[in-house]
Amino acid sequence: MKIQQSFDEYLNAWIIIHVLNHKFDWGKNVDTIFNMSVGYNLEGILQENIQWFFEKMNNCATELNEKKNQIRAIYPQIDEIEIPTQLSNNITLSTMHGCPANEIEEIALYLIEKKKLHTTVKLNPTLLGPEKLRFILNTKLEWPVQVPDLAFEHDLKYNDAISIIRNLENAAQKNNVHFGLKLTNTLEVMNQKTVFDPKETMMYLSGRALHPISINVAALLQKEFNGLLDISFSAGIDAFNISDVLACGFQPITVSTDLLKPGGYSRMAQYAKNIQHYLKAENRISLPSAKTESPQLLLNRLELYAQNAIENKAYKYQVFEQKNIKTQRPLNSFDCTAAPCVDTCPTNQNIPDYLHFAAQGDFQKSFEVILRNNAFPQTLGLVCEHTCQTKCTRINYDNAIQIREIKNFVSQHGNADFLKVPESNGLKISIVGAGPAGLAAAYFLRLEGFEVEIYEREKSAGGMVHKAIPHFRMPNNALYEDIARIEKLGVRINFDTPVDQRLFDELKQKSDYIFLATGAQKMKKLAIPGADSSRVLDPLKFLSDFKQQQNPLLGEKVIVVGGGNTAMDVARAAKKLQNGVGKVTIVYRRALAQMPADAEEIMGAKEEGIAFLNLLSPVRISQSENSLFLLCKPMQLSEKRDQDGRLKVVESNKNTISLEATTIIAAIGQDVVFDFEDDDLAHLLENPKSLRSGKVFLGGDARHGAASIVQAVGDGQQMAKEIVALAKLEHQFSFPSEEKNISNLQHLQKRAERIFGQENHALIAKAEQIMEEAARCLACDEYCNICVSVCPNRANFNYEAIPQKIEMFKLEVNSGGFRLIPDHDFVIAQKQQILNIADFCNECGNCTTFCPTAGEPYRDKPHVYLTKESFAQNVEGYFLEMHDAEFVLNYKNDHERYSLSETKQNFIFDSAALEIRFTKEHFSIEEIHLKQDEEQIISLRKAAEMRFVLEGAKKLAY
Ligand code: SF4
Ligand code: SF4
Ligand code: SF4
Repeated sequence: MKIQQSFDEYLNAWIIIHVLNHKFDWGKNVDTIFNMSVGYNLEGILQENIQWFFEKMNNCATELNEKKNQIRAIYPQIDEIEIPTQLSNNITLSTMHGCPANEIEEIALYLIEKKKLHTTVKLNPTLLGPEKLRFILNTKLEWPVQVPDLAFEHDLKYNDAISIIRNLENAAQKNNVHFGLKLTNTLEVMNQKTVFDPKETMMYLSGRALHPISINVAALLQKEFNGLLDISFSAGIDAFNISDVLACGFQPITVSTDLLKPGGYSRMAQYAKNIQHYLKAENRISLPSAKTESPQLLLNRLELYAQNAIENKAYKYQVFEQKNIKTQRPLNSFDCTAAPCVDTCPTNQNIPDYLHFAAQGDFQKSFEVILRNNAFPQTLGLVCEHTCQTKCTRINYDNAIQIREIKNFVSQHGNADFLKVPESNGLKISIVGAGPAGLAAAYFLRLEGFEVEIYEREKSAGGMVHKAIPHFRMPNNALYEDIARIEKLGVRINFDTPVDQRLFDELKQKSDYIFLATGAQKMKKLAIPGADSSRVLDPLKFLSDFKQQQNPLLGEKVIVVGGGNTAMDVARAAKKLQNGVGKVTIVYRRALAQMPADAEEIMGAKEEGIAFLNLLSPVRISQSENSLFLLCKPMQLSEKRDQDGRLKVVESNKNTISLEATTIIAAIGQDVVFDFEDDDLAHLLENPKSLRSGKVFLGGDARHGAASIVQAVGDGQQMAKEIVALAKLEHQFSFPSEEKNISNLQHLQKRAERIFGQENHALIAKAEQIMEEAARCLACDEYCNICVSVCPNRANFNYEAIPQKIEMFKLEVNSGGFRLIPDHDFVIAQKQQILNIADFCNECGNCTTFCPTAGEPYRDKPHVYLTKESFAQNVEGYFLEMHDAEFVLNYKNDHERYSLSETKQNFIFDSAALEIRFTKEHFSIEEIHLKQDEEQIISLRKAAEMRFVLEGAKKLAY
């Protein structure tokens, strides 16, 4: 923005504030003040345009009168309002990183002495000094960021700062203006090259990690000046620390990062509420300030708070904290609302619905919702890897909802009596393998009316879950109850029946469909020299023996190689067998945060005393009489990413290290094996993207390799759906979403508040706690609008559309005229829709950061321009006009232009090729007028799309 435009915006805002105050009779005085900000060098400040700006901010009488003349027509009472001609008499000098001390002092002295402005100088957090700052940031709070020496070298030094503050205080006193400090600016840290362009060497830290640092800078300076400094504060302020910071006497407080997160400005309500609670608890009628309390008292409070902030775990780096909730779901122009937890659940469990009922204490109804998509609620309630929780919208407010724990509780308190098997459809399914995938498919297929028979090589069902998950993670009863529910539906399981060539050929003859769900039963071996030692154990056999209490002697030094849940189970089981004597170490070739195991399994293992050695890749095993030696090559993270988005690891140039062990257990993945051969099977194994060949389906771990239990259950469900579709049957077992009757206002209120839930899942054991936790759910399946609340420029506009299905046609034009060809329907299914107000958007990308889809709202949503000029100047977008009581929506891109007019009776779509008249109610074609007769096929989808953009644009404009 140019200086003149900037002044114009200040003046517009100034007038609007006074008009609003008058209109709503908020009081005699307007309590808003404007603060100017400069951050350049003195030479820049002395430029003509900046001097003009100072002049106008001091006295805008001419411009104010001009604006009043314009406003009078729409607000005649403007002359009753006393609007001061001075827009601002105060300024903040935001010193840039690296600004020399003499420059800071010169600019501030100029502002105080020459411009007679009340002046605030914003200082950098590096004033704390390298030792203390790094101690707080890296040692106490464990943030893995590096503050370079350069940041301390080129920023203002502590002693210089003290001398500048004293000089400026004196100058301010002489000139009868006020002087204060603002703490703090952002902190320069090395660019870790995970988010920003790798070419940038620095990035700037703000928010949560900065708070304890800046508050300690404040304590240090305030102590130096005996508590007499006037400080305004800005660093990681939120609803939970605002009262404490205000209680230190700091005013005003600037809030920034917190308001750029979902909920946006509505988060302020909780600030006000918490300040009220503070005043009530302290029995005060106003906040502490230099006017009401002694400097020493405020200083004492500040020093105590500064110390507490360093110890407060709210500011600590959390290794496994989920950083964003973006999913793989594409973003469309319309209908984008969907719950990210559902998107990421392999069974697409209807989480918002079952949390809704759980929140009301209706655990039976909640269980019924769960059983619609989940054949293993009891088991998954205990051991699901809960990817849903990694994408829960709540992460951007406080912490993810404990979805799995709620499911676990609900599953123990509901019954499955409502499940009824329909009449047989006469189709026979043979399933090979009674693991989670096979049993899940059996469950859904039985509920669709198929005859299902399972063939299992073991004496029991449950596959790896039964054999390998230790009792300390999941008691067998949970699994048995899930299996019993499936068997009760009439699924027959033939135990002790391995499927060899003969049996497979027989099944192929007698079955309509076969589902191969054998799992991945064979452990991968460490492919390094020495791995065939008898003291290198198979993890599945070890876990199976552990479950049956047939434990091998492990010795005192156990090394587990691997980073998945099986490795964690093995390590924890080994630790238990050591009975407190010995050491278990997990060796993994990637970083801790990259381990595929669940965060809580890793934390559980750590809490039990298991050591972790990350970034070590095994290369050889050698052995002596009593010991094994695992030779490992140290690895390091590279700047490149793999296809899953993880940073790749590469060999470092450090020396190979040797780790001594009595036993090594390598849990590095599993292989798939079959006891028969078949052309369809061969085809499926060669084409892992195919689910089916002929009548044979392949799924679960047998298709993907060893994955999670929920992935296998989801696969079983998908196979069942594929089979139903292939058999061309109507679904017998499906349910629509439940109507939750939450008003838009209630949605907004929920999204305004941060409510931390229980972090320790073991604490959620009672019905009231479950209800409370479930009530934190934001019902993201019904309402999103995140892009609206996070936009600092209010550039995303939400409107309510009327859902509609429009029958669509294409026009086939030839020399003889045209004919209509049916096209697929144009459907708007959701009420909540989004438009991007292109004039307001500065493409900062904040909406993209928080949108739960893979898309970018400011690019993917329809762009609407507010003025004819901005529409003309840009390449693509919409502009709404009104002509003779008709609305006309114009659209253009770099090669087409269209318009859609709304008259009393019709919509009229106009393009270079044709004009079409549609009915108002159903958008059915009434009349077509061709403008071109060249052969072509014309889609009419743009017309339907414009009909819905028009609805939003009208709401935006009027
Ligand atoms: S808030 Fe509720 S609906 Fe939204 S992601 Fe979390 S669990 Fe799912
Ligand atoms: S990119 Fe545009 S719409 Fe998105 S947050 Fe930034 S200004 Fe708002
Ligand atoms: S953030 Fe906006 S664009 Fe993204 S899903 Fe939500 S409403 Fe749609």
